[in-house]
Amino acid sequence: MRISVKAPAKINLTLDTLYKRPDGYHEVEMVMTTVDLADRVELTLLASDEIRLECSASFVPDDARNHAYKAAQLLKEKYKVKQGVRIYIHKQIPVAAGLAGGSSDAAAALRGLNKLWNLGLTLDELAEIGAQIGSDVPFCVYGGTALATGRGERIEHLTPPAPCWVILAKPPIGVSTADVYGNLRINESTKHPDTAYMLKAIETQDFQLMCKSLGNVLEDVTLSLYPQVKQIKELMLASGADGVLMSGSGPTVYALVQKEAKVQRIYNALRGFVKDVYVARLLGCTEAEILA
Ligand code: ATP
Repeated sequence: MRISVKAPAKINLTLDTLYKRPDGYHEVEMVMTTVDLADRVELTLLASDEIRLECSASFVPDDARNHAYKAAQLLKEKYKVKQGVRIYIHKQIPVAAGLAGGSSDAAAALRGLNKLWNLGLTLDELAEIGAQIGSDVPFCVYGGTALATGRGERIEHLTPPAPCWVILAKPPIGVSTADVYGNLRINESTKHPDTAYMLKAIETQDFQLMCKSLGNVLEDVTLSLYPQVKQIKELMLASGADGVLMSGSGPTVYALVQKEAKVQRIYNALRGFVKDVYVARLLGCTEAEILA
């Protein structure tokens, strides 16, 4: 028996840090949504009691360091599963890019294994298990659009935002999320996004308000470490993007546009500058559509 599950990337429409907690993590407030740039996670039932993992990208770990492997391990241990699985990840989402590729693979593995191993778990239960792997995994279990708080693991579902095109560009650098948070100093000059306005923009499907309300408190940190990220943002705006933001801790930057005519113009401008450029649509919908 084989199951194939789509694992879409996420982008941050907002990312704010409220304060540093006693456990060392930042209390965050993020609006996230899925886009149709996706990995595909194939799960094949094995009669033998083992987890095997392969990935189309050779530099991604294929052992217990892989988030999808961890997902299988956790389910196996918790529910005493005696069957095994072969996990094949067809990688499309750039790695260490701020797009939660690894987290989405883990979430897809959780959803798929729930079926393959007949566990009958709810999405809430899968999300709870996912939180042990990483803060972005619970959001990826549900997909769609959500406000994430806590370390990012507390999810409040939102309606889909106004439909639009998303052009993503990743400069050839990998960014460590821990390093970016480590360099974050919150003070009076910190630019905080207005999360309330973003929530209003989503609720009313107001595309212009959504573009105006984009904000990421980590952006200035990554921009100061990697000037290419700033250049990409400027290029996107100069080419007609309606809104531009860095996703997560970066380095991927995305542009939002509603008019299809602008998509090619922005894509062409970026391709002269970076190799990794992707055109996608906001998914913004529910897990049911992600499973397709
Ligand atoms: P986030 O936005 O959640 O911070 P990211 O997009 O910045 O995530 P990932 O692509 O998830 O980063 O990868 C971060 C690290 O996790 C990589 O350096 C990689 O070694 C490791 N990793 C573990 N499992 C995976 C996976 N399935 N796909 C990609 N990377 C993985």
